[in-house]
Amino acid sequence: MTADAKGPLPPGSVIGMLGGGQLGRMTALAAAELGYRTHVYTPELDAPCAQVADRATTASFGDSLAMDRFVESVDVVTFEFENIPIDAVTAIADRVPVRPDPKALAVCQDRLAEKVFINSHGASTAPFRAVPDPAILPAMVDEIGTPCVLKANRLGYDGKGQTLLRSRLDAADAWRRVGGAMAILEGWIDFTAEISVVAARSADGAVLCYPPVENQHENHILKRTLAPARIDRTVAERAETIASRLIDSLGVVGILAVEMFVERTGDVLVNELAPRPHNSGHWTIDACGTSQFTQFVRAVVGLPLAPIDRHADAEMINLLGDDVSAWQDWATEPRAHLHLYGKGSARPGRKMGHVTRLLPLGTVA
Ligand code: AMP
Repeated sequence: MTADAKGPLPPGSVIGMLGGGQLGRMTALAAAELGYRTHVYTPELDAPCAQVADRATTASFGDSLAMDRFVESVDVVTFEFENIPIDAVTAIADRVPVRPDPKALAVCQDRLAEKVFINSHGASTAPFRAVPDPAILPAMVDEIGTPCVLKANRLGYDGKGQTLLRSRLDAADAWRRVGGAMAILEGWIDFTAEISVVAARSADGAVLCYPPVENQHENHILKRTLAPARIDRTVAERAETIASRLIDSLGVVGILAVEMFVERTGDVLVNELAPRPHNSGHWTIDACGTSQFTQFVRAVVGLPLAPIDRHADAEMINLLGDDVSAWQDWATEPRAHLHLYGKGSARPGRKMGHVTRLLPLGTVA
């Protein structure tokens, strides 16, 4: 039986997970609670998800024999990160349902396509220009104004592949720093807050949004999330409306995380989309009746979404690199929930785990 058949997949069915990081790991744990099995496909040895999944294939995405065996063993396929070759995902979708649809993944893999999509569905972004060729970069800097930020069009994450320009004279260096391939230039936004909305959509098209949360970054990597965001009700409603519209228009069955900037005027600009569970939604495991991971599994197997039922405010702190050495302190702090991802070496900036501190409802905002 596959996920396209009438009704949800029965417990015991196998979810194929492309990518083996912590997002896959927490999804596999949620799937197991509902009685589903996970078969993870990852190029990484001893991947965080492989440690908890029922089955793991360790192979490159281009290994057609390994991929064949994987596809034959699963009832539905999903993914936990964006940087998977789109051809591999599309080829899987010819044989077994892939949720979300690879078309949504393709949009989110390409910053230019993503921004065009966002703008054509009634939401604003920072002003941007496509920069296919370094020769036009100085002229684009003049058009957008400084400061501005040059971002590689593909394969960027956690601030990798992007660089700030303070003058058109920085153009040649900036082009080299982002990798010397198709890029986009964005105006620098003087935001009052960075927020995100994690939206979920089931196969029958129902949409639920977790409340907007506030994200604080260090060196472009998420460090801390406050739930809910300390923003006006009207701004929160605006953000949820945008997220609902985008997940619907993109036809995502699963999760869409929408990262946004709040401007001084209260206007909301969309920065980035992620068609998968998101780091800024980790707090939902401990502070909500239904976490983003459970919601994701429910959508992927064809179950209806479940009520979010937030029962606490929360502060989520990422344990980056060596932060993880304080794990024993976190493990003994009352009302702090420690989640470790089973990663070996604590390289600087690497996401090793997170902690969610629960706070009484109404404490944060
Ligand atoms: P991104 O990889 O696009 O999510 O960018 C990583 C982080 O860089 C964001 O979370 C922001 O803190 C910052 N950033 C990216 N683009 C802009 C922008 N146009 N204006 C201001 N800050 C930005």
